[in-house]
Amino acid sequence: MVAPVMDSCVGRAAERDCPILNLSAVSRTFLEQPIDAGIWSKLGAAVPGGVRRRGDDGWDDARQSFNGTIDRHPEAIVSCASTADVVAAIRHARAAGLPIAIRGGGHSVAGHAMADGALVVSLDRMRHVEVDPERRVARVGGGALWEDVDPATQAHGLAVPGGTFGDTGDGGLTLGGGLGWLMGIAGLTCDNLISAEVVTADGTVVEAGPDGDPELLWALRGGGGNFGVVTRFDFALTPVTSMYGGHLRYPADAAGAVLEEIHGIIDRGPRAFAPMLTLGTDAESGMTRLSVAFGYPGTADEAEKVIAPLRRDLPLIEDDSGSRSYIDIQEMSGRLPFALRHYWKGHFLQALDAELLDRLIAIVRTTPVPNAFFLLESIVGAARDEPVGGAAFGQRGATWNATVLTIWESAADDERAIAWAREAAEAMLPWSYNGGGYANYAPADETPTRVRASFGPERFARLAAVKRRYDPDNVFRFNLNVPPGG
Ligand SMILES: Cc1cc2nc3c(=O)[nH]c(=O)nc-3n(C[C@H](O)[C@H](O)[C@H](O)COP(=O)(O)OP(=O)(O)OC[C@H]3O[C@@H](n4cnc5c(N)ncnc54)[C@H](O)[C@@H]3O)c2cc1C
Repeated sequence: MVAPVMDSCVGRAAERDCPILNLSAVSRTFLEQPIDAGIWSKLGAAVPGGVRRRGDDGWDDARQSFNGTIDRHPEAIVSCASTADVVAAIRHARAAGLPIAIRGGGHSVAGHAMADGALVVSLDRMRHVEVDPERRVARVGGGALWEDVDPATQAHGLAVPGGTFGDTGDGGLTLGGGLGWLMGIAGLTCDNLISAEVVTADGTVVEAGPDGDPELLWALRGGGGNFGVVTRFDFALTPVTSMYGGHLRYPADAAGAVLEEIHGIIDRGPRAFAPMLTLGTDAESGMTRLSVAFGYPGTADEAEKVIAPLRRDLPLIEDDSGSRSYIDIQEMSGRLPFALRHYWKGHFLQALDAELLDRLIAIVRTTPVPNAFFLLESIVGAARDEPVGGAAFGQRGATWNATVLTIWESAADDERAIAWAREAAEAMLPWSYNGGGYANYAPADETPTRVRASFGPERFARLAAVKRRYDPDNVFRFNLNVPPGG
């Protein structure tokens, strides 16, 4: 994701009527029953120093969602440091009849890491990264962030093809797909997941992958946090030494010509060019602009030849591209603090053509809040190839991922910002690849219909079969849910 800088489900009461996030009738019943007080002392003994409850110091900071429109009140947050802690947390939650939410890096815009009345399994103390440069494998803790993974792998001239913001979690990002600068040469992040350790709904530890259950690995490659808590991710590493990247910015009226050149470059190759575009209005100048961000794995000579058409005969306003380390490329988009208000929604596209581009330019000029833009991520090269062993991710036949992102500060703007973003996403529907958006950018009110559409019926049925084996009671339901019944 790159940045230029809820509807009826916003707010706690309304969340109860939201189709996916809501507490089901079953968990409502749990909430109404008193929880055996002994559970907390037993869990505290099993995970010393790791259990936080309502009223404890720092409780409100701990339950803060990335998205400020989301205000959820879990029953407890268990900060796990090991697989054994996760097992203990899950078993105690099940014994108390509590639903379970999973927090990796905490960046879900839908707020899936926190849930009313739930026990939150937080992996914030599981951020270890071990690199085996000979086998080109990284073994990563379930709560690691990209800022943990990237320096450890780059020390060996290697990288996990990940996301583009250092403080996001690799857990949620991998399980939902994973779009980043290296996807043209190495595919999505989930395609590089080669095995994993998972604690399932009954507290059993299972191995996903060739030495365990290959079908579970298939499901983890895009099927989200539906199947259990991933305590260890093993990733195949890609050699990455020289990088060249930055932003090329143009006035919106040149967007059609720029897009034509971009499509020409993508069609000719090389596969390494995986641009991400933003279309938004600059707050200072009031000018609507198209920004082309890229992080090209290759030398300056190669990259400059590839992007030459984007520098020639086009009205460039700004060009900050140049040779940069992979770590610097990964920080190129900066950071976004927690508690800003967000609504993101979109579609993977069959094609991004001039008609849609013109439509998006017209829409973005009507934004009700200053920070609203379209993000257009190219799906190119290896990202379009099914990985060995396959993946649940269901949208690699698309050519672009298009998302409208609205970010604002005051609750007074909620209604109009959200209404505008929903309409903006709706306008893309005729170009949609399969009627679904990107799981990792889903809003809190994502519908079951869109979730199913994003996988297609066959993949969804296969995911439901895995769900039935590992979580038949749908204990892990604060996610883009795959119900056990399909
Ligand atoms: C600023 C920003 C930049 C982003 N940039 C990119 C980008 O470049 N590319 C991209 O593809 N996406 C990007 N995203 C989207 C990102 O992938 C999702 O927000 C993702 O959910 C973040 O993962 P997390 O672990 O931080 O989230 P969390 O909120 O902690 O987790 C979200 C959900 O994922 C599941 N989950 C997380 N960890 C585990 C685990 N270990 N085991 C089981 N389930 C787990 C759970 O269901 C959890 O509720 C960005 C998001 C933000 C906010």
